[in-house]
Amino acid sequence: MVKVYVLIFEGLLKMKNIIVLGGGPCGLSAAWELSRCGLDVTVIEKDSKVGGLCITNEYRGFRFDLGGHRFISKNRELIESIRTMMGDELLTSMRKSVILLKDKTFDYPLSAKDIFLKMDPWMNLKAFTVYIIAAIFKIVFRRKDTSFEDWAVNRFGRVLYRLFFGPYTEKLWGISPKRISSDWAFQRISLLNLKEVLLHLFQLKKSTLRTHAREYFYPKKGIGQMFDNMSNEILKMGGKIILNATVLAINSHNKSVESISYIQHGMTKTINCDAVISTIPLPDLVKSFPNQLPREILDSVSALKFRSVKFLNILIDLPDISDNTWMYVSEDKYSMARIQEPKRRSPYNAPEGKTSLILEIPCDENDEVWNCPKESLLERCLADLKELGINIENKVIDYFTTSVIHGYPVYSLGYMFHKSKLLDFLNCYKNLITCGRQGTFRYIFMDTAMEMGIAAARNLMQVD
Ligand SMILES: Cc1cc2nc3c(=O)[nH]c(=O)nc-3n(C[C@H](O)[C@H](O)[C@H](O)COP(=O)(O)OP(=O)(O)OC[C@H]3O[C@@H](n4cnc5c(N)ncnc54)[C@H](O)[C@@H]3O)c2cc1C
Repeated sequence: MVKVYVLIFEGLLKMKNIIVLGGGPCGLSAAWELSRCGLDVTVIEKDSKVGGLCITNEYRGFRFDLGGHRFISKNRELIESIRTMMGDELLTSMRKSVILLKDKTFDYPLSAKDIFLKMDPWMNLKAFTVYIIAAIFKIVFRRKDTSFEDWAVNRFGRVLYRLFFGPYTEKLWGISPKRISSDWAFQRISLLNLKEVLLHLFQLKKSTLRTHAREYFYPKKGIGQMFDNMSNEILKMGGKIILNATVLAINSHNKSVESISYIQHGMTKTINCDAVISTIPLPDLVKSFPNQLPREILDSVSALKFRSVKFLNILIDLPDISDNTWMYVSEDKYSMARIQEPKRRSPYNAPEGKTSLILEIPCDENDEVWNCPKESLLERCLADLKELGINIENKVIDYFTTSVIHGYPVYSLGYMFHKSKLLDFLNCYKNLITCGRQGTFRYIFMDTAMEMGIAAARNLMQVD
């Protein structure tokens, strides 16, 4: 205890002004931790409100997250801090999610029992045989998992791959699963191998994987409420949050960052700093060093891509659509990858007797979907929903779209090489830490982003 106190005190003497770039879960958690330790912190956020991907938009009494978020963590300290901050405003909700495929509804996460019971006997026999062969080949020939396709085919066989994994993955990422690194699979697919499948089937093993978690925390007024409360606490403790401010340049001398320049309402401003915690996208951070960047660094900057997402938010004059929190849409003929019903997370997300849907449509910035007028998008999506058995054509009260550019870091083959190059470049700057989902180019959830922010703050203060 004494050691921690002394180190904080030494840290305080060294650090006068710490700047946090980005006001999403990671940046705010860093600023929250620094403020709680009495340090002077300024957050620079390009949006008009804080929360990053965890913003909730309110419209005509309805609330829409960017997609629909749930808070799950194994970190007791983090959970306790959030509980204390939210008080009665934090609900414990239960998830029910399914996969819609070929007029059938499969459990999510996928279960071998469900696949077996719902597919026709011929398909079952074919899938099971191919599945067993793939499992044996994987063990005997030690098949390598370079791409996502290798990973899934080696474990599940090509029949199940073509049904459940291939089309969905291509829709989500916008590139062939042959060009996606197998790294992504480890984070997203919950059935790992034949042994795991059998253990789950006979209920001999309880899953600790996040995808299997049914219970989760969710604020009454949408996920954004967590970060609105956090930013209020930061402000109360004396921290500053500058909104509508886009980072332009990181100004350094002798490999130490001295000030940050940003543009706000058309005006360029500069603030001095002793240290920086950045959570803005890794390529954007590197580009903000105005000194000449070597060619190879510029190549790595342009090699790292993000997949964008457009959300169609529909206000509906019906009490409910289904009891599912979300539904995956596997087939690539439908534009949406996921359908969410916000009311399933919190009853406060829709007025009494009404409900709403969020459709997540993966796209690239400035592609056909990105630029599609909302009227055409609605028309297309209502037709898709009807085919999927959700007919709401005469029940739409209103609708609007939202979008994010940096939805998912694209784990294309070779991404790790470019990411390492950029991290090595930044490593030379003694008083700069990059963290968070965008800042480390990692497919992480909000709890990990928050842990990273807190760890970065403690690292600056040299506290364990
Ligand atoms: C559709 C979808 C659903 C998700 N569902 C869940 C879920 O259910 N549970 C869960 O735990 N996680 C979920 N996630 C992941 C979660 O949103 C992220 O892990 C989390 O938001 C990461 O926080 P972050 O602060 O690292 O990044 P972000 O939230 O992206 O925040 C980065 C911030 O930096 C700002 N910024 C960027 N560039 C600049 C600049 N140049 N200058 C100033 N500011 C800048 C941005 O505006 C943003 O506010 C989901 C993600 C998506 C896309």
